[in-house]
Amino acid sequence: MAAPTGNVMDRIVALCKRRGFIFQSSEIYGGINGFWDYGPLGVELKRNIKDAWWHDMVHSRDDMVGLDCAIIMHPQVWKVSGHHDLFSDMMVDCTDCKRRFRADKVFIATLAGGTGPGAVLGVEADGVAGAAEALPQSIAAWAKQTNTAEFKKAEVVVTGCAARVKTARGEYTATIQPLSQISPDIPRRCPECAQTLTEAREFNLMFMTYVGALINDDSKAFLRPETAQGIFANFKNVCDTTRIKVPFGIAQIGKSFRNEITPRNFTFRSREFEQMEIEFFCHPSESGKWYEYWRDTRFNWYTSLGLASSKLRLREHDKDELSHYSCGTSDIEYAFPFLAAGDFGELEGVAHRGDFDLRSHMEGKLVNQDGKLVVDTGPDGKPKWKGSGKDLSYFDDERKERFIPHVIEPSAGADRGMLAFICEAYTVDESRPSPELMKFHPRLAPIKAAVFPLVAKDGLPEIAEPVYREVRKRWPAQYDAKQSIGKRYARMDEAGTPYCFTIDGQTKEDGTVTVRDRDTGNQNRIDKSRVVDFLTEKLEGHTR
Ligand code: ATP
Repeated sequence: MAAPTGNVMDRIVALCKRRGFIFQSSEIYGGINGFWDYGPLGVELKRNIKDAWWHDMVHSRDDMVGLDCAIIMHPQVWKVSGHHDLFSDMMVDCTDCKRRFRADKVFIATLAGGTGPGAVLGVEADGVAGAAEALPQSIAAWAKQTNTAEFKKAEVVVTGCAARVKTARGEYTATIQPLSQISPDIPRRCPECAQTLTEAREFNLMFMTYVGALINDDSKAFLRPETAQGIFANFKNVCDTTRIKVPFGIAQIGKSFRNEITPRNFTFRSREFEQMEIEFFCHPSESGKWYEYWRDTRFNWYTSLGLASSKLRLREHDKDELSHYSCGTSDIEYAFPFLAAGDFGELEGVAHRGDFDLRSHMEGKLVNQDGKLVVDTGPDGKPKWKGSGKDLSYFDDERKERFIPHVIEPSAGADRGMLAFICEAYTVDESRPSPELMKFHPRLAPIKAAVFPLVAKDGLPEIAEPVYREVRKRWPAQYDAKQSIGKRYARMDEAGTPYCFTIDGQTKEDGTVTVRDRDTGNQNRIDKSRVVDFLTEKLEGHTR
C-alpha cells in the first residue's frame, strides 16, 4: 500500500470514518453540524477513557463519590449560576453572505507598503499564528472574489505570527490583529466573502426547550451546558446521605450541550459532548493547596495514558482572563495537529471557584468583581435572582467550625480527550505494507487482542477458537480467519489492537502460537496455554 498523503488531520478523520471510530451524525441526510456519532471502535475507546477516569478519580480514592444528574434542571439553577445572563460568546455576522463567526476567531490582516493601495482582509483562525498560516489561501480567495489583479499571484512568506507579501508591484508587510483590537477606521471584512461584518454582539450558548404541554415563558427550560451545577444542587444530599467529610469530591460524567457559533475541528468543538467533572469541596484555608494538587494530578493523568508531555502544557490564566467567580484557573492544553505550530487547544480546565457556587445557590446570584463578592441586584435593589434559600454551609466536626466550602473544579471533556488520544496514537510507519497504525495505551485500546488461525483449514480454526474464547472471557477481542495474515495484522494495527495471536502449523506440533506486538511488529512464540497470562501481565501489569 502507498504511503498516506495529505495533511495529518485529514488522514486521521478519514481513518476514524473508515474504521468506525467516529461518524458524522445523520450522515445519510447530509449531516448536522456540530454533532457526531461514535461507531463500534469509537464507543469502546470512549468508554475506556471514561472508565479509566472513573477508576482513577473515584474508585481508587477514599475522598470521592459519584453522581449522575438529570440533563434538564430547574431553570432557576441556570439563573443563579450565571449561565442565563453571562454564558455567551461574542459573534459577528456578514451583512452579505450572512455567515456567522465567533468574534474571537476572526482576524483582520492589513497589508501595508508596496506601491498599490494595499489590502485589508478577514481571516478565520484559532489564533494569530493560525491566521498567519491561513493568509496565503485567504489572499488568493479575496483577490479572486474582489477581482484585485495585483494580489492574484502574490507570494506570501509566513514567519510565525507575521507575513510578507510580494506582488509584481511591490512588497507588503501584513499586520494580523484580532477583530476586537483593530481601529475603527479599518474595514471589518468577512473571511468568507470579503464584505462587511456587523458589530460584535452576545449570543447565549444554552439550548432552550419547553417542559410539558404548554409552550410559554413558564415552561422554558435549558439543556445543561455543564454537568457541574447538578453536583452543587446535590451537595447537601450527598453530605446528608454518606459519611464522607470535607475535604472530598463529587464526580460526574455526562452529556452537556452548547449551541456553539462555529463548531469545528472535528469533534473538538461540538454542540453535544460529554464532560467528566469533579467538584472538590475543601476548607477555605486549604483551597490553594488543593488547587495545585488537582492541577498537577490531572496533568499527570493524561501523560499516564500516553499523551506526550512535550505536546501538553499547563497554562495559568491571566488575571483579566479569569471568569467572574474564579480565584485561579489553569488549562491543560494539547498541541492538536489541526492547530498552527505553537498553538494549543484546551483539554481540561482546573478552576479554583472559591465559594461562589454554593453561596449563589443559597443566596442568589453573586458576582465576584476585583476579588470581592458583590450581590448582583435588580432595579428594586434586591438580588436579581433568588437562591434556593437552603443552607448549603458545612459543619466541620473536627474544627468545630461552620463554613461554606471552597471548590476546586477539574472539568474535562471526554470527546476532546478522546480526540487527543486519537491524534497521539496515529502513527505512520512506512516500512510496513500498511503504514497507518494507532498506538493506543493498552488501557484505552478498543480491542485488546486478536486471535487468527493462519489458514481457515488443516485443523487450525479448531485450535484457535478455544484460545479466542478464553481471551474473550476477560477482554474485548476479535477472531478473524479471512484474508491474508498481513491484511489481518494491518486491520488490527488501524484499530490499535496491542497483541495478535496466530495459530499455525507449528502450533499443531509443539503447542506454541505467534504473538505479534502492534508497536514493533516483532513476533515471538509462547505456549498457547500462556496466552491469558501473557495478556494479564501486558495489559494489567500483574500476573494472575
Ligand atoms: P472553550 O474555551 O474551548 O470553549 P471552555 O473553557 O468553554 O472551552 P469549559 O467550560 O471549561 O470549556 O468546559 C470544560 C471542558 O469541557 C473543556 O475543557 C472541554 O474539554 C469540554 N468542552 C467544552 N466545550 C466543548 C465543546 N463545545 N465541544 C467539546 N468539548 C467541549
